[in-house]
Amino acid sequence: MLASLQQELEQRKADGLLRQRRLLDSPQAEHIVANNKPYLSFCSNDYLGLANHPVLVEAMQKAAGVSGVGSGASGLVTGHHRYHDDLEKQLAAFVNLPAALLFSTGYMANIGALGALAGRGDAIFADKLNHACLNDGGYYSLAEFHRFPHNDVCALEKLLQISTAKHKIIAVDAVFSMDGDIAPIPEYLALCEKYDAYLYMDDAHGFGVLGKHGKGSLSHFNLKSPRIIMMATLGKAAGVAGAFVAGEQVVIDYLIQKAKSYVYSTPAPPALSATLAASVKLIEQGDDLRANLNHLIAYLKDNLKLKKWQLMASDTSIQPLIVGGNKEALALSEYLQTLGILVPAIRPPTVPVGTARLRISLSAAHTFEDVQKLVAAIHQAENELVA
Ligand SMILES: *Cc1c(COP(=O)(O)O)cnc(C)c1O
Repeated sequence: MLASLQQELEQRKADGLLRQRRLLDSPQAEHIVANNKPYLSFCSNDYLGLANHPVLVEAMQKAAGVSGVGSGASGLVTGHHRYHDDLEKQLAAFVNLPAALLFSTGYMANIGALGALAGRGDAIFADKLNHACLNDGGYYSLAEFHRFPHNDVCALEKLLQISTAKHKIIAVDAVFSMDGDIAPIPEYLALCEKYDAYLYMDDAHGFGVLGKHGKGSLSHFNLKSPRIIMMATLGKAAGVAGAFVAGEQVVIDYLIQKAKSYVYSTPAPPALSATLAASVKLIEQGDDLRANLNHLIAYLKDNLKLKKWQLMASDTSIQPLIVGGNKEALALSEYLQTLGILVPAIRPPTVPVGTARLRISLSAAHTFEDVQKLVAAIHQAENELVA
């Protein structure tokens, strides 16, 4: 077995697909120290620059002094601390849904919630470009799993029309993690009404950034319905870690009984919840951060003028630059590194073959000068690298 593992790794390397971790010696921020070198980074999902915010650092230190550092037991035994409970209530109110349940990570939230809500005889309808953990949630649920072409409302409707499943769930990313575009959520909700289906919306990249006061994609579209179940992660714009699922009280009550990744897992430390409570307040008061972020996004889109490579059509902080080949994407990423700029190359299987890209992610913590530097470096790289 070990020899075959080694062989597979070598094949990956030969295909330009071997992934390597960088060793970080600084807090997560726009300026980082990775592999012992300083970089200007466009890599993180810390869209509001909260991951190293002094208010949150202090909140975590203070909370650890009160609650200790560990949860000690699963939530259904003695691991459900008042900090967790307060945060669940705060999050539900923030996204304007009746109730919420915390999970340790977004990955666990999706596999736990979809795995519990759908079962044999049910059907899940999933966008082809959904995050990997929605797919895993689907497989895990034992429900029929149908994938429809990206954002294709008509194709989805055809699948719903012929479905005889008992319960139907449309599961989609609200903002696509590798493309940055926003799903047609209102159209999906209309289909839910028409075909008696439910919408499971993953707002990992909308929460904190989109909508009124950063309340996320539901607020962005001004939607409210008992047919909506949403998930958002707390390690991206919220700057800390974890995730929550929100929806009708009965949905949350059911998940507390049946979501295995909740029931059989130790909750994240209560001090994290206390930190997140402070983070949600910063998000709510962060209209100026979001305004700065939107200026930076507009600046990048207006000023990056390329001959061969292309920015995808995205209005969010995720601005993918399509390069095409795996090795070309890697070469561009490495070239930028020599200029002190870090932007990750994203390759298959994370994205479709032939669409390897640089995933530029902007943060409210970036300055205009940072983005100017990035634009100039990409222009220089295209002149140097494209024959
Ligand atoms: C990051 C991400 C997740 C997973 O969240 P974690 O908290 O990092 O496990 C789920 N869905 C989407 C769309 C994501 O981008």
